[in-house]
Amino acid sequence: MDKEDIKRLGNDPRFISGIHNYCDRWCERCPFTARCMNFAMGEEQFADPETQDLNNEAFWEKLSETFQVTLDLLKEMAEEAGVDLDSLDIEEAKEEENYRKEVAESHKCSRAARAYGKTVDEWFDSAIEMFGQKEDESERQARPGIPSIGPLAEDTTLADTTQVIRWYQHQIYVKIMRAVHGSLKEESEELDEFPRDSDGSAKVALIGIDRSISAWGEMRGFFPMLENSILDILVHLERLRRQTENTFPAAREFIRPGFDKVKLNG
Ligand code: SF4
Repeated sequence: MDKEDIKRLGNDPRFISGIHNYCDRWCERCPFTARCMNFAMGEEQFADPETQDLNNEAFWEKLSETFQVTLDLLKEMAEEAGVDLDSLDIEEAKEEENYRKEVAESHKCSRAARAYGKTVDEWFDSAIEMFGQKEDESERQARPGIPSIGPLAEDTTLADTTQVIRWYQHQIYVKIMRAVHGSLKEESEELDEFPRDSDGSAKVALIGIDRSISAWGEMRGFFPMLENSILDILVHLERLRRQTENTFPAAREFIRPGFDKVKLNG
């Protein structure tokens, strides 16, 4: 794939501009793969079965090719836009960046999200034996006495539930970090009339939290004997959800290209 191929894909009307900026990167479960340039690039770039193996040298070679092509394209676009890529004060930028990273890492939402990721690992480690037994049973079975509290589909399996929890386990932290970090940057910019990227990231984190809450609700049905530990996790997630909404009050209203519908007035 060369520069022209990337430009050609960029101009293809099938694709929704910027859709991949506020998604959860779960392409296997995404309803917009046909409208996503990022997905199409991956398909085109890595169509050869050999390249699909992450351990295969060809994969990294292809990736490095894309890097060079992207860099060339970036230089070309910067020139066209009159942006001098050499003019940045690297030291100053680095200091600012380190400061923002430290503040973001110590933010209460980031700390709570990081703690959640760790708790999930600990929970799965402690439940590993029971998981083995459950997986040997039929995936769908009666869950007497404890109704599911999550809105996942009726035939949700233990594997589905686990996948959802695992997918968002660390992504919530990453997206919250990005949101907090971005909001610090935005403070110095006049963006009042524009949607904020930090709200977009916070929204993706919130969606991950919502789905994780649902999945833990399902997990409660699979493992009633672990109810107390699951409820602890649910309480933690609910607090994180509220804190994130309070920190980013406009996040839920952020319109993600493709995924959210624009509300029309009148
Ligand atoms: S928008 Fe969908 S297809 Fe594109 S990168 Fe995100 S999850 Fe994958």
